[in-house]
Amino acid sequence: MATCASCGNEYDKTFEVILAGQRHVFDSFECAIHMLAPVCEHCGCRIVGHGVEAEGVLYCCAHCAASEGEKRLRDRA
Ligand SMILES: [Zn+2]
Ligand SMILES: [Zn+2]
Repeated sequence: MATCASCGNEYDKTFEVILAGQRHVFDSFECAIHMLAPVCEHCGCRIVGHGVEAEGVLYCCAHCAASEGEKRLRDRA
């Protein structure tokens, strides 16, 4: 049994995510996304797909990046 790092639930089918050398244990992808997924700088939604990065700032899609003035970016997903 392991304990979810996000909601504290004890569960026998947890999984680990290693992010930047840090090990996290979760009971569901929802919990993992809640804790680890970056947030779009423009609309504030969780970035679950590829996202777009511009000068260290993350956006959920090219539209959001363009709205913030990053007009040279194109969606890679
Ligand atoms: Zn959880
Ligand atoms: Zn967005």
